[in-house]
Amino acid sequence: MQHNIPVTHSALPELKEYVAEIEGLWESHRLTNMGVKHKLLQKKLCEYLSVSHIELLTNGHMALELAMQAMKLQEGGEVITTPFTFSSTIHAIVRNRLKPVFCDINREDYTINTAKIEDLVNEKTCAIVPVHVYGNVCNLEEIEKISQKYKLKVIYDAAHAFGVKYKGKGIGEFGDASCFSFHATKVYHTIEGGAVCYRNEKFGKQIYNLKNFGIQGPEEVECVGANAKMDEFRASMGLCNLRHIDEQIRKRKELVERYYEYLGNVPGIQVNIKQKDVKSNYGYFPVLFDKEKFGYDRDEIFERLKEYGIYTRKYFYPIASEYACYKKEYDSLMTPIAREVSQKVLVLPLYTDLSLDDVEQICELILNKPKE
Ligand SMILES: *Cc1c(COP(=O)(O)O)cnc(C)c1O
Repeated sequence: MQHNIPVTHSALPELKEYVAEIEGLWESHRLTNMGVKHKLLQKKLCEYLSVSHIELLTNGHMALELAMQAMKLQEGGEVITTPFTFSSTIHAIVRNRLKPVFCDINREDYTINTAKIEDLVNEKTCAIVPVHVYGNVCNLEEIEKISQKYKLKVIYDAAHAFGVKYKGKGIGEFGDASCFSFHATKVYHTIEGGAVCYRNEKFGKQIYNLKNFGIQGPEEVECVGANAKMDEFRASMGLCNLRHIDEQIRKRKELVERYYEYLGNVPGIQVNIKQKDVKSNYGYFPVLFDKEKFGYDRDEIFERLKEYGIYTRKYFYPIASEYACYKKEYDSLMTPIAREVSQKVLVLPLYTDLSLDDVEQICELILNKPKE
């Protein structure tokens, strides 16, 4: 192997494109607080994501945290989610003084198993926080039904689902709110950044207040807010990256198709599902290894690839109920599928400037153990 291959590699516009975008800031000296770049990006993202409203924020975690806070959920209330997610989802619940209740996931698409949600509902349950894991869309219809039946709020963690559509509709249009991450490692980024999409304008005003100290005017502070604004430099990066996103997703698709060609029909390897009615963003290529059928387990493949300078990610491993900060309160055996998937899954390298040759080399190494 000639070069190291990381698991992800942030896309950047040409330097001169970014410089042209930020040049005006040297004249206006308006560097943050919902300036022209912020306003323009807000408008363009609303269009691109096909959503009715969006609030831009400093990162995806604050999107989750503030979305839950803006719902004004009863302190100590229970929130049904899954342990197969990034730590942020669970921390956002706990930092709102709410209690995460873990539901198991589907073995096929790794999202919440909606058939198991109702068993977990009780009088303390106030919300569901499902995650569109790897951009795979949750069972939206079932979640809608359950939330109406029990009057629960639904806040989607859509950090992986930028640009994903379901039956032609933007994924951010579902539930009471959807939270996106624009972190440097995501399909679309603003270096650090995030957003909440929603339909209820009163809720949007709450988010705005929470992201800007509750300040309404120079002499008016309406509520106890935090600071989670997106600044003009990040909004500018977002404007640049948005010009190239369709081309980047097209390239990702090509790479993913190549992965499917090599790994799609191998006994003991489970590749990611292609969902019906879903326009994918090709954000991740997760693979599950079954040692009994394939001959090697996830950790062996992880180590083998590392020896050749190829870096993969055990994502998500461990599950949240096994974190040092949560394991005392939970038993990870209660969500056996999530636990099993986390032990078998490996996310393979995928980014726009990865080459098709790289994908072939990675697959060859997985399929044929080189002789010593
Ligand atoms: C990245 C991510 C977040 C957090 O987003 P940040 O922008 O990094 O704060 C939350 N949930 C999931 C599933 C993520 O992948």
